[in-house]
Amino acid sequence: MDYDTIAAISTPVGEGAISIVRLSGPDAISAADRLFQGSKSLSEVHSHTIHYGKIVDPQEGQSVEEVMVSVMRKPKTFTREDVVEINCHGGLTSVHRVLELVLDQNVRLAEPGEFTKRAFLNGRIDLSQAEAVMDLIRAKTDQAMNVAMSQMEGKLSILIRKLRDRLLEILAAVEVNIDYPEYDDAEVMTNNILHEKASEVRQQIDRILSTARQGKILREGLSTVIVGRPNVGKSSLLNQLVHESKAIVTNVPGTTRDVIEEYVNVRGVPLKLIDTAGIRETDDIVEKIGVTRSKELLQSAELILLLVNGNEKLTDEDRRLFQLIGKTPAIILLNKADLPLEASIDEVAQLAGERPVLKTSMINEKGLDELEKAIASLFFSQDVSTGAEAYVSNTRHIALLKQARSAINDALEAADQGLPVDMTQIDIKRTWDLLGEIVGDTVSDRLINELFSKFCLGK
Ligand code: GDP
Ligand code: ZN
Repeated sequence: MDYDTIAAISTPVGEGAISIVRLSGPDAISAADRLFQGSKSLSEVHSHTIHYGKIVDPQEGQSVEEVMVSVMRKPKTFTREDVVEINCHGGLTSVHRVLELVLDQNVRLAEPGEFTKRAFLNGRIDLSQAEAVMDLIRAKTDQAMNVAMSQMEGKLSILIRKLRDRLLEILAAVEVNIDYPEYDDAEVMTNNILHEKASEVRQQIDRILSTARQGKILREGLSTVIVGRPNVGKSSLLNQLVHESKAIVTNVPGTTRDVIEEYVNVRGVPLKLIDTAGIRETDDIVEKIGVTRSKELLQSAELILLLVNGNEKLTDEDRRLFQLIGKTPAIILLNKADLPLEASIDEVAQLAGERPVLKTSMINEKGLDELEKAIASLFFSQDVSTGAEAYVSNTRHIALLKQARSAINDALEAADQGLPVDMTQIDIKRTWDLLGEIVGDTVSDRLINELFSKFCLGK
């Protein structure tokens, strides 16, 4: 299929001082060539080569920007179309100037996600891989990046395709039995085949789904809240975690003004530390944002780190915080262990119940190893073999897998109840369709448009 030529500013993942104007489509090379002044004309250079030169305003003859231009001819490109990338070194204004000039060359500004959409439409990648591109753009931690990368490489797609092939085999086998019912044990065979193969598929779906929690956390970070009375050592803990952390990826302002999210990596577990801006001022999240908000914050957390000052007797406020934790997984830190113990260990243990209690000192950096171990074991204890071949982390994929699971379940139940075989067939076909939606084999145009419009511009 032939599309028009599109362009957008596309800042590379990991960004830097360089901004890229990317063009894709049949006129990408000729359009860029009209603006480019270098030792060679871009239409004569080899594919997948990069060239130094200048972008010149063709009207005024004035040089706008020093650039490196990559020329990539189809089909070995991301979009499977001719692609040109103009690497600009100057600031934002000059990049925009270059884009404007490009857009004067009968080139259209790309819609959000349109490059990736073309890669999908031209058969270069499947839908789950396209979504991985989007995840990659948003990835906040190295691990999240890895999940997205392996998805982009198609690991999830391979698994899903295998399952779909299995389902087709089942359908074919059932079909044979329907067509030749005169075979003696057609009925028995149908049930046997169904049972063995369909439960196998169900098991596989379960296996993929079992990585969902980890997948989501790897992608988004385990949302973690540090609480405790003023002066128990919350900020000190935060600093320790941030400094020890191998990868502080980014500081992102949260959805509300008073909450800051900080990403740290604890033994491979990405924590999204939810820090209230107020913590730094008044040191008391309850006081600063109110009981209701902090209750909500604690309830939405996936992990709570509750600090108690071991050097003081417990107060009612400490006890109240224990209550606020509710059912959320939590680790209790009896801090200031370098000072004489004043808090009642028995009461802390009783309030903590099943939750681990660790003695820590932020001053002597004691107990931090144990804390990291406790966090890692909370995360990895879910009885899931890690190093899974593919994590599923995308919400849409998880929803589809769950629907597929219940469809295959319906098939198994129908077979068990001895319902007519065509009922079972319908359920298996439905499972096949649902799995197909993950990789984009069976999706509607509307869904495709919706998905791609969520992409960042320039991807
Ligand atoms: P926050 O109000 O809970 O954030 O507590 P901070 O981290 O700001 O610490 C309050 C005070 O306690 C500071 O002077 C820290 O140096 C001190 N502090 C924090 N942790 C420890 C610890 O483990 N031992 C001792 N002796 N002092 C600590
Ligand atoms: Zn503080």
